[in-house]
Parts: sequence; C-alpha cells; structure tokens
Amino acid sequence: MRHPNPLCIALSAVSLFVFSACSKSSLTEPQESAQSALSSAKQVTAASTTPVGTVIYTSNGYKLTFTNNAGGFDDATRQKFVDMYFSIYPTLLNRFYTGATKQVTFVIDPNYNGVAYTSGTTVTYSAAWMANHPQDVDVLTHEVMHVVQAYTGGTPGWLTEGIADYVRYKYGVNNGPAGWSLPAWSSSQSYTDAYRVTARFLVWLERHVRATIVDDLNTALRNKTYSGNTWNQLTGKSVDQLWTDYSNNPAL
Ligand SMILES: [Zn+2]
Repeated sequence: MRHPNPLCIALSAVSLFVFSACSKSSLTEPQESAQSALSSAKQVTAASTTPVGTVIYTSNGYKLTFTNNAGGFDDATRQKFVDMYFSIYPTLLNRFYTGATKQVTFVIDPNYNGVAYTSGTTVTYSAAWMANHPQDVDVLTHEVMHVVQAYTGGTPGWLTEGIADYVRYKYGVNNGPAGWSLPAWSSSQSYTDAYRVTARFLVWLERHVRATIVDDLNTALRNKTYSGNTWNQLTGKSVDQLWTDYSNNPAL
C-alpha cells in the first residue's frame, strides 16, 4: 500500500514547512539505520514522532491537510494515514460519490477520549486511541467513508454506520492485525444495531440478494429518496423480511 514517495507537493504558501516534512519522511529509514549503526547497546530505539503543526499533502488532485496537535504522535502512524488517504479515499470517491470533496482534513487530537469522528470534511482522531491501538489504522477507512457519504440529514444512523463498516471490511488494509472482524450472526442482533452487525448484513445481501445493494442504498441516502420502501424496490422484500432470510441462513 505504500506509495513510492512524497505524495506531497509543496504548496507555495507553506513550501518550506511542507517540503521539510515530506523530505523527512522520505529519509526516515536511512536516518534510523545510521543511528542504529552508531548507537550503543544502551540506546533505546525510540519511535520517531510527528511534529506538532500542520502539513499539507497533495497528489493527483487530492489534498490532505494534516494537523497534529499531539506531542509524541507516532510518525509511522502519520505516514500510514497519509498513504491510506491517498490510496483508499479516491477508491471510495470513485465508487460511491464522484462529487465528493477532494480536500480532506485530518486532526490528531490529544484531548479527545473517543476513537475518531467526522464532521463535514474533517476527520478527528484520538491521539490516545491510536497510541494504544497502533494497528487500528482502518479507523481511517471507516471515517473517510463518512466524508464520501456526505448525506444531508434524515438518514438512519444505523445504515450510515453500517455502510461505513462495510467499507472498512471491504477496503481495510489492517483489519486482521487490529483484531477487527465482522461478528457472526446471533439471535440477539438486529439490522438496526449499526456498525459491524449491519455491515455483515450488507455483505450477505450483496452476495445473496443484490450485488449492487450498498451502492443503491448509498445513492438513495444521498439523494434523499431513501425510505423503508427502498428495500422493497431494490429486492422485492422488506428489510425485516430480508433480515429474517439472513437469520435463517447467515453464512456469507
Ligand atoms: Zn462512523
């Protein structure tokens, strides 16, 4: 998934800072090699950290404004986030909404105690969560889908979140090491449980009922044509009937 290198092209207004930040990332490995060759046994291999501040990356018409407000944020995570943005976000935009913005902002927040959240075109990540769960980088995959969704109100949250976790399942790059997977069906579940439960239902529908179901639901949600009847229009059955079918034979 790693891009060959600097995805970042300095914008003139901030050229020095951007250029130095991008150069730094490209030199990370040689620097570390040189350090370890010179280091004594006593030296601990400290992970490099991302400077506090804003860096702007651009590539192929896409822009990422990365604002790190957390001292000590792991620079490997920053690099992963940048690489993932430029590989996954365009994929989602091309599949789900070609009119979505190509200018996204990431904020690393040292004071946010959740995991991550998206507001408009800005995704905020908990610095503490990423420090404690460094494998969980597909939080990004879920959140940037919210940017692509760009639904404007009146949409059921369970379905919005279910689609975002469907996307994490389909396009995630590190779900296994992160310990993230879709939960097996159980009788205590409902399709309105959102997140992974709804995501697995969508995967099942895609494989057994209608291959374009997620695309179609996404379009209806954005166009504000979604209603309970949308399921009938797309599949000939109500969502409750579909859930019953799923419950009777939930294998993917
Ligand atoms: Zn979400």
